[in-house]
Amino acid sequence: MKTQQKAEYKATSNACKHCSPLGASLVFRGIENTIPLLHGSQGCSTYIRRYLISHYNEPIDIASSNFSEETAVFGGGANLKLAVDNIIQQYHPAMIGVGTTCLSETIGDDVPMILRDYLKNNREENGTVIVPVSTPSYSGTHIDGFHAAVRATVDTVAQKQSSHAAGINFFPGMLSPADHRHFHEIFSDFGVAYNMLPDYSQTLDGPMWTEYHKIPEGGTPVKRIVAMGDAVASIELGRILAETKSAGQLLADKFEIPNHRIGLPIGIKETDVLFDRISEISGKPIPEKYVQERARLIDAYADGHKYVFEARAVVYGEEDLVIGMASFLSEIGIVPALCASGGKSGHLEAKLRQVIDDFDAKQIQVKEGIDFVEIGEIAKKVNPDFLIGNSKGYKIARSMKKPLIRIGFPIHDRMGGARIVHVGYRGAQQLFDTITNTIIANRQDSSPVGYFYM
Ligand code: SF4
Repeated sequence: MKTQQKAEYKATSNACKHCSPLGASLVFRGIENTIPLLHGSQGCSTYIRRYLISHYNEPIDIASSNFSEETAVFGGGANLKLAVDNIIQQYHPAMIGVGTTCLSETIGDDVPMILRDYLKNNREENGTVIVPVSTPSYSGTHIDGFHAAVRATVDTVAQKQSSHAAGINFFPGMLSPADHRHFHEIFSDFGVAYNMLPDYSQTLDGPMWTEYHKIPEGGTPVKRIVAMGDAVASIELGRILAETKSAGQLLADKFEIPNHRIGLPIGIKETDVLFDRISEISGKPIPEKYVQERARLIDAYADGHKYVFEARAVVYGEEDLVIGMASFLSEIGIVPALCASGGKSGHLEAKLRQVIDDFDAKQIQVKEGIDFVEIGEIAKKVNPDFLIGNSKGYKIARSMKKPLIRIGFPIHDRMGGARIVHVGYRGAQQLFDTITNTIIANRQDSSPVGYFYM
């Protein structure tokens, strides 16, 4: 008699991903005068606040509808309405972004319906835009919550107001505040009008305050999101994102705005695509400043090639960041021997094949839906020269006595995570110097004789 084999069950010991409402909260922190509100128990917003603060080193308010045992059983509609009331009275925000937690999703609260009911009975409060977004963490990661919040915001706010199309919609994705700042610089140097969503270049990396601000200055103004319905084109970053129903796709479906989906502009190859695309859409030439930056970068690649060539790396983190980083490592001659992510889109390997030459010959291992315990086990077999990813790989790097180059999110054990530039020719230049110097330092430290002239 045949018996059915049970699938092997594995607990996740140390997930290589974060919760969905965390990603959504980041988006709402990148919209001007906006408060994120999580519908569920208080612990979720406390965890996310604490996690974000220790990366960005900025005050981060995230409100909660604060479920009790009763609301968990009978529904949290009354709590949510009270929370919205309190936020409007205390903060007078332009927008409240409402994300759902695992608990409210599990009990099945109909958040859009609760908020429609609230607005029907509180017409005088209609000045505050309320954007609901479904962010169940058990069926997605922080990046799913991030993209869902961008899409929900555009869906609720963007409008077609004029018959004259103008400006480029730009969706940068979950990069650092310094990356967002660099994108502002690039678009300004091109001299093109653009609407960037989100923009936490200031709200999560702002100047010192002399007095407390209830909501930090900066972020995408709501009127710029309204204007997204009138753009000439959208550009959105992320090769995995291109497989999902994104904000750019939504604008294409709703208002027939052409959508350009490209990879994260990490390294020369992927950055060229962004510059070419802006130039093509705007009809303006690439500013000379960036032509020079690119030329200097190629010169640096040539100078440092002998140090990095055929080094091996373990890359992990959010899927699109892994793809961008693997593309960059490959173009400088490093083999991304293990590409790992907690995300499980099912597209990671196919997208990596698009950016890495001689993929099969390099015997690259690709792992989706993985945790740090498994990354550690595979990393030992892969024998890398270094690991590159967020701080959470530190234990693996330490146990293997290999250097860890910190990029992405979260960086909890070093200063300056918010100030890392990953994108553009400038980002590639900084990454190239950091990686090359890390490899040199490691070889120098493990040399039996020591040397200082190369
Ligand atoms: S319970 Fe769900 S929503 Fe809350 S912190 Fe955990 S993963 Fe995030």
